[in-house]
Parts: sequence; structure tokens; C-alpha cells
Amino acid sequence: MERRDVLVDRLISLGYLKTPAVISAMRSVKREFFLPHDFERYAYEDSPLPIGGEQTISAPHMVAIMCEAAELSRGQRVLEIGAGSGYHACVTAHVTKSTVYSIERLTELARSARANLNRAGCRDVRVIEGDGTEGYEKEAPYDRIIVTAAAPSVPPRLIDQLTLGGKLLIPVGSRYSQELLRITKEAEGVRRESLGGCVFVPLIGKHGWKG
Ligand code: SAM
Repeated sequence: MERRDVLVDRLISLGYLKTPAVISAMRSVKREFFLPHDFERYAYEDSPLPIGGEQTISAPHMVAIMCEAAELSRGQRVLEIGAGSGYHACVTAHVTKSTVYSIERLTELARSARANLNRAGCRDVRVIEGDGTEGYEKEAPYDRIIVTAAAPSVPPRLIDQLTLGGKLLIPVGSRYSQELLRITKEAEGVRRESLGGCVFVPLIGKHGWKG
């Protein structure tokens, strides 16, 4: 059995992975393609790993939690903030089978994410360099916005760029520990749900932390 399948089976047995499309995406996408050479051998450890620029690729269980909580489905328009290695965006695109827009503030990581996605044969992710706290107006509105860095508060532009019924997943809290929020845009306003504690690197930008 491949190490990837062993990890996915564990994430299923722990209750992190539930839906067939997300399970299939995590069985298909090779995480080693998204890691620097020295860390490839740890690809199927369930932990975050360094990817350069003092940033990390999220742990597989966190990618599973966020993909499940986002209630992804085929054809949705998705914006990710924090491309990092490109792995999470690739898993997402595998589920939606549509273009995923992913913003990264660091030039070096935007470049390596594109190279990783190319290596993995993932053509449905567009990596854009910029400050994701402003969203990406050009392709808005989005059915889902997934933020993979920790914000001090919810950037207002992200709510503006959601469709009605659209969902935003975002870790909000201090620089060192946060609560994962799922925010649904409704006709009367927004509904906030807390999905539990988490730890992400800081979201740095105009509506985030100062660099
Ligand atoms: N989703 C990534 C993956 O699959 O590898 C992991 C993301 S990593 C935990 C967080 C990323 O957010 C870092 O690459 C960081 O540079 C980026 N970031 C932080 N602030 C940002 C901002 N304002 N706009 C875009 N990216 C940002």
C-alpha cells in the first residue's frame, strides 16, 4: 500500500476525511511534489513542513478539515489566500474541477508554487502574486474563499467578494493561536461558526498583520 493511502486511511479513521470527492483528491495529489527536496521524504507525515520564506505547507489533517468544512463541490468558484506550496489549491481544484485562484504575497513562493503545480500536472490553479487581504476583485464573486494564514480579524473585502450563500473559511485570533471560522454570507448578513482551535502563520497585509 502506498504511504499516501496509509495517511488518507488514517485521516478517514480519525474523522477528518468524510466525502468521496475530497478523499479521492487527497489520494491522488502527491504531496512530495510540493515540498523542497530535503523534505520530500516526510511528505506523508501528518505535520506542517517548511517550504522556504519562513512559511509552511499545512499538515494534511488541516487541509482535510478545511476542504470538508468548505463543503466543496464541482464547478464552484474558489479563491485561496496563501498559495504557499500550491498543495491545498491543487487538492481543492481536484474536487471542484474548475479554476482555483490562489494568491501569494511572497514572490519566491508564488514562483515555486507554480513550478510545483506544473510538476504535479495540476493545470486548474492560477497563482497570483499580491496581498490577499484585499481578495481578488478581478474574478469575484466566489462561492468559497479559503484563507490559509492567520488573520487578526475578518478582512471586509473577502465578505464583499462572496456570492450570496458563499462561505469563507479563515483562522482568526492572535499571531500564535487562532479559531477556525466558517462565515456564510446570507441575505440578512453573515453567520459565523467556530470550527475549533488551530495554528497558522500570520496573514500579512493591509487588512492583516503588519509585516
Ligand atoms: N496553502 C498553503 C499550502 O498548501 O502550502 C499553505 C499556506 S502557508 C500556511 C500561508 C501562506 O500565506 C504563506 O505562503 C504566506 O506567505 C502567505 N500569506 C501571508 N499573508 C498573505 C497575504 N496577505 N496574501 C497572500 N498570501 C499571504
